[in-house]
Amino acid sequence: MSLILKRLSQFTDFGPRLFWVLVFAFVVITTPVQSFAGNLKVQDIRVGVHASATRFVVELNDNVEPRIFGLPDPFRVVIDLPEVDFDLEEERIGDGAGQILKLRYGLFRPGTSRFVLDLKSPSKVTKKFVLKPSGGKPWRLVIDLEPTSRADFVVSMRPNAGDNPSPVTRVPVPSAPRQKIKPVVVVDAGHGGVDPGAIGVSGVYEKKIALDYAREVVRLLRVADKYEVIMTRDRDVFLPLRERVRVSRAAGADLFLSLHANTHPKRSTSGFSVYTLSDRASDKEAAALAALENKSDVIGGVNLGGYSDDVQNILIDFAQAKTNELSVEFARDILVEKVKNSASLLTRPWRSAGFAVLKAPDVPSVLVELGYISNPQEERLLLTGSHRRKLCAAIVNAVDAYFKTKQSAAL
Ligand SMILES: [Zn+2]
Repeated sequence: MSLILKRLSQFTDFGPRLFWVLVFAFVVITTPVQSFAGNLKVQDIRVGVHASATRFVVELNDNVEPRIFGLPDPFRVVIDLPEVDFDLEEERIGDGAGQILKLRYGLFRPGTSRFVLDLKSPSKVTKKFVLKPSGGKPWRLVIDLEPTSRADFVVSMRPNAGDNPSPVTRVPVPSAPRQKIKPVVVVDAGHGGVDPGAIGVSGVYEKKIALDYAREVVRLLRVADKYEVIMTRDRDVFLPLRERVRVSRAAGADLFLSLHANTHPKRSTSGFSVYTLSDRASDKEAAALAALENKSDVIGGVNLGGYSDDVQNILIDFAQAKTNELSVEFARDILVEKVKNSASLLTRPWRSAGFAVLKAPDVPSVLVELGYISNPQEERLLLTGSHRRKLCAAIVNAVDAYFKTKQSAAL
């Protein structure tokens, strides 16, 4: 820029004032608007318990106008802000006090960041205000919560009429070509954004491991250019389970892989496992896992409205039974075989239960639990690049082997 200014000054015979007008115009024209505003940042989060109220304070670098509403069953308060960076000294997910059992935060969809406060009992917002910077403190959003009845919560905390509380991210999906040349593989990184998934012994989030492994699987799948590969998410953003299923179907997927990391109350439990859909769980642990994984939408603060039954009641019809045979073939006969030399396996590494994300009736779908982040050794292993590359290569080998059997069957 200095070179341009020098030239401008050489060619400007109208005196210094016009020169500076030109300089100013140049700066205004070439500077993007965002750089004046900067990124909105959350700098600290505090929960204080007072005699009658629980006070939730968010420190920010600028003023905000939050949107706040409540969701019942379980009772939650949702606070939506414009997209912010969570610029915190330490993670605060899971913290709570007073009426707040646990808090979560993260990107809900591009342009909107979200706090979800799980409540001990129905509570309503009795005060909400923003304090300007003073006494060395930045902007503060202050929200007071006080216990109330269920009936009052449902009425006073409901989202504004006509205001859809949870328009969710919709992933653009290329429409399935009529005559597909390459098999379509959809890779789904579990959880994301305001839903951290399980939390490991060292504090690592399942959503991060899922995304790291999904990216590696996608990278490897694309190497040979044999597949059309689609990711449901490629950043730290929340996606409802139904949206993941929609992406899989809209893409005309031939295989759907949902990647996760598991936890177990017993720290010694470890190993890779893979799950397919069934209306009767193979065992109690698989049923408990499905119930946990199916909670993602509740955790994300999505108003389940008319589709909670849809998520919870999984009935497998005839078409789905055919699809399910393929899912089982991939999971039990191929994936487990390919992975066993690259990772330790859980006992009975293939199991089944009612996972909502595996519900696409026409897409063979599996949910992979890469390992247990509740096991200190396995958590550490899952975070190493060498294990990630090895395990993802085995998963991609399984995908190759699966489509090889399909192609030879088609000949
Ligand atoms: Zn998960």
